[in-house]
Amino acid sequence: MSNPSFLEQPRRLWLGLLAAGVGVGLGASVKALAGPGLGEASTPLLMIPAVVLASALGGFLPGLLAVLLGAVAAWGLGADLAALTLFALVAASIVAGGELFQRARRRAEGVNRDLAEREAHVQSILDTIPDALVIIGEDGLIRSFSTAAERLFSWTSAEVLGRNVSMLMPQPHKDAHDGYLEHYYRTGERRIIGLGRIVVGARRDGTTFPMELAVGEIRTETGRFFTGFIRDLTERQSTEARLQELQGELIHVSRLTAMGEMASALAHEINQPLGAIANYLKGSSRLLASGGLEKARVGLDKAAEQALRAGDIIRRLREFAARGESERRVESLPRIVEEAAALGLVGAREQGVIVRFQFDPAVDVVLADRVQIQQVVLNLLRNALEAMEDSARKDLTVRIDPAPDDMALVSVADTGPGIAPEVEAKLFQPFITTKAAGMGVGLSICRTIVEAHGGKLWPEQTPGGGATFRFTLRAVTDGELDE
Ligand code: ADP
Repeated sequence: MSNPSFLEQPRRLWLGLLAAGVGVGLGASVKALAGPGLGEASTPLLMIPAVVLASALGGFLPGLLAVLLGAVAAWGLGADLAALTLFALVAASIVAGGELFQRARRRAEGVNRDLAEREAHVQSILDTIPDALVIIGEDGLIRSFSTAAERLFSWTSAEVLGRNVSMLMPQPHKDAHDGYLEHYYRTGERRIIGLGRIVVGARRDGTTFPMELAVGEIRTETGRFFTGFIRDLTERQSTEARLQELQGELIHVSRLTAMGEMASALAHEINQPLGAIANYLKGSSRLLASGGLEKARVGLDKAAEQALRAGDIIRRLREFAARGESERRVESLPRIVEEAAALGLVGAREQGVIVRFQFDPAVDVVLADRVQIQQVVLNLLRNALEAMEDSARKDLTVRIDPAPDDMALVSVADTGPGIAPEVEAKLFQPFITTKAAGMGVGLSICRTIVEAHGGKLWPEQTPGGGATFRFTLRAVTDGELDE
């Protein structure tokens, strides 16, 4: 719909004025050419076309001008007062009617403009909303099909408009949908309208997908319409799966980083049994040479023991560094913590740290991904050891206690300097560190892991100085275990 330009209004006015002049001129010419045979009373009548034309084309002003010009011309051509009065009355009604007509036309143009504007707005919404939108009429036929719906169902709007919406559904709903509508009209019972539900949709090629459907109802003078908002759940599920995959990767990488940071302590830990093995073997060999068979056997046994110890550390390392799918199982919490401590506390003795374990026997199994929870414990232990490097008192206490609501509480308390005030508020944000070689991702990943397990992780002050980190996990109760 075109908007009348500013230029168009004056153009209409000029056209009307021209029509008034020319029309009156023509009327006068006809009278002059026809001569007296036409009769005196007809003179004003000849001016009527000029009035009609001028007011239709240009509105009130040209119409009025045509009346005046027509009256003057008719007067000049000898019309009497009665004929002129009649002319004035008829012409004035024509002008008034013309003006009313012009106003109505302008109003209609305005309404059309508004409608066109609103339609453009609605269309732009339909084109951009990420959810698919399908509008159907009372008869179940599709009236509107948004761009996202075109993408989702692989139909173009032109192909589906006017067809039954059941074409977007798999069986048995495809055949039953008209019945659903009828049931609703008859009973008013709402099964989807205004509620929203997860249903299955069918694409053009017949493949189906889960979708979230919310339906609204509009009642207008021409009947009711239903608007369906559709969200493809497969897209969301795959995004969530990808996010989880990425998080798993991150957790794994941070585990490798932790291993890297512990590399020298670990090398030392493995070197010790290797050195011991070498010594035992050398001793046994000497004993064999001198015939001390029984003593040599004891020496060889000791060497084997040390080899197993080294093997044990390597096994733990391998398990810890493995990528592994995240899987939760019923696991013994004390065992998880002990194993993590076997890795996490390498080098602690040399550093002069006194380690205490206090496990409440009331807590046993939890539902957890063993390696991930070990990663949390290991991280907390390494942080505690690093914090106490320059402390006079080096006490490390690892506790397991029961907590309310069937939770288990793990605490790692150190006697270091406590948490530095500058990092306290953002302790769990990634890349926040006070260490020269720190990455600052450890605690943020620990919190992610614990929260993914339905628990909480938080810091406290150790009474007498130092930091205590605690986290909870949901314990598996005896009843659940039986099930
Ligand atoms: P990183 O160890 O690489 O710095 P973390 O996220 O594990 O990363 O720790 C972030 C910061 O939290 C550390 O730099 C340290 O300042 C503080 N912090 C963590 N644990 C302790 C602790 N037991 N005592 C004192 N400060 C700690």
